Amino acid sequence: MSHVLAAVAWPYANGPRHIGHVSGFGVPSDVFSRYMRMAGHDVLMVSGTDEHGTPIQVQADKEGVTPRELADRYNRVIVEDLHGLGLSYDLFTRTTTRNHYAVVQELFEALHANGYIVPKVTMGAISPSTGRTLPDRYIEGTCPICGYEHARGDQCDNCGNQLDPVDLVNPRSKINGETPRFVETEHFFLDLPAFAQALGKWLDSREGWRPNVLRFSKNLLDDLQPRAITRDLEWGVPIPLEGWRDRSDKRIYVWFDAVIGYLSASIEWARRSGDPEAWRRWWSADAQGKDSRGYYFMGKDNIVFHSVIWPALLLGYDGEGDRGGEPGDLGRLNLPTEVVSSEFLTMEGKKFSSSRQVVIYVRDFLERYDADALRYFIAVAGPESNDTDFTWSEFLRRNNDELVAGWGNLVNRSISMAAKNFGAIPPIDPAGLTEADEALLATAKAAFATVGGLIEKHRQKQAIGEAMKVVAEANRYLSDQAPWKLKSDDEKPRMGTILHVALQVVSDANTLLTPFLPHSAQKIHELLGGVGVHAPMPSIVQVDDLDGGPAYPVLTGDYTVGARWESVPVEAGRALAAPKPVFRKLDPSIVDEELARLGD
Ligand SMILES: [Zn+2]
Repeated sequence: MSHVLAAVAWPYANGPRHIGHVSGFGVPSDVFSRYMRMAGHDVLMVSGTDEHGTPIQVQADKEGVTPRELADRYNRVIVEDLHGLGLSYDLFTRTTTRNHYAVVQELFEALHANGYIVPKVTMGAISPSTGRTLPDRYIEGTCPICGYEHARGDQCDNCGNQLDPVDLVNPRSKINGETPRFVETEHFFLDLPAFAQALGKWLDSREGWRPNVLRFSKNLLDDLQPRAITRDLEWGVPIPLEGWRDRSDKRIYVWFDAVIGYLSASIEWARRSGDPEAWRRWWSADAQGKDSRGYYFMGKDNIVFHSVIWPALLLGYDGEGDRGGEPGDLGRLNLPTEVVSSEFLTMEGKKFSSSRQVVIYVRDFLERYDADALRYFIAVAGPESNDTDFTWSEFLRRNNDELVAGWGNLVNRSISMAAKNFGAIPPIDPAGLTEADEALLATAKAAFATVGGLIEKHRQKQAIGEAMKVVAEANRYLSDQAPWKLKSDDEKPRMGTILHVALQVVSDANTLLTPFLPHSAQKIHELLGGVGVHAPMPSIVQVDDLDGGPAYPVLTGDYTVGARWESVPVEAGRALAAPKPVFRKLDPSIVDEELARLGD
């Protein structure tokens, strides 16, 4: 057993999330965490909503609400969506907790004390007509990199590059259109070049990463520049230094605070667990955390933050960059074991876009379809290592031909036949097992090592493929053995044996599919006469802020219960009722209905 941190990308709380988002960070991290727990590891799965920064401030201004009110609204929407998908977070929190502020400030102070945060005079904008500072969000102009005409002062939404307002071509105030005047202003920068050597050494020691992620990360080291970590903005974490703490116009940059969320959420989880030091088992680079591994899940647009910037912050905190230094008050902290990045999901051949309505929000999806139908699609056809396309016709085909006609049919026909002819799980005939029986049972048993090993290596597509092969084998076995023909008194013991074998393999396949399809796994466990929790589910709990801030909802759960990653013998004589279908067959008309909902 080891301690496994599943650090899941933080969704930005400026709107509901679409299925492209959850296919990148959400479902893969849950499959991994569920499997690792079933295999006996002590997993800590944390994340939360990312709530600071310019886009939330801008949108709040537009709607006439405070940024906090806007973040509250979308935090709740996102918490409910992730709950609906059954994502088993130990803690899904948010970046507006006082605990998070304190941890962010602790890292800032330690990095500053070690000399990795340096002040730099840059050009800041002021409004010529009022003489006041013009925050980044009120400046737009043409992106100097891609030519997009509506780039923001801090970032271009078209090419994704971070910008400074002074970089913009033809900058203008969004308030009154005037051209801002740039004057000297002081900001803090993270001295990234001071980590180039340590990062290179660390990346060279990584094993098992997806090759494109490792290559991309190493290339980033060739051009490391100091990176601004404060902005002209009122919405964010205050800068914890003398003379800066009380300034309302300067805040820590959102990217700096958001990546620290993995650590602050772990600390919050420990404080809520009754053992405030428990987080160290996953994080401490000293004795307490030495058997721990940390896996970070995200879409590919976030690789730089997880394979370069977050490790740099940790190296600086530990005092291990070019300037040396002492570890901060939390002690030396572990760097990531692996950065697990997914590619992009497109939608009917187009990039997801809320404004052009090329989008399917998680909530809308879950209103019309089951969570496991989406989880299945993402697992077998998601953007694991290539950009992939979601189409409604492919979703329909996968659901009807594979989930319903493959897995659902095996469950349904084997349980119905046993219920109808025996009312219970039949015993194995004393005549014993045939070669075909033994072969199928062995195939199912062997799949535990194969499927588990693939999930542990983040090859989930291949893993679910192996589990579905067991399903296909079992369906073929039933067709070959044709137990429905064995009705005479002489033949009935053999029918019982076949159904016993089939139900054993249904039970095994159900365990193999539990990380992918937890909702249906629980139902199938009950259809087989099982009691209690098979696949534990998260709950939404309203909690008080630990340090006196406003209350908020979190996702959490007790995942110590449930199935283990092993074949459990089915018990002859256990009562069975005729099953209700576990999966829903969809009508082909949904394809046209759904396409009609999409814009252009
Ligand atoms: Zn651009």
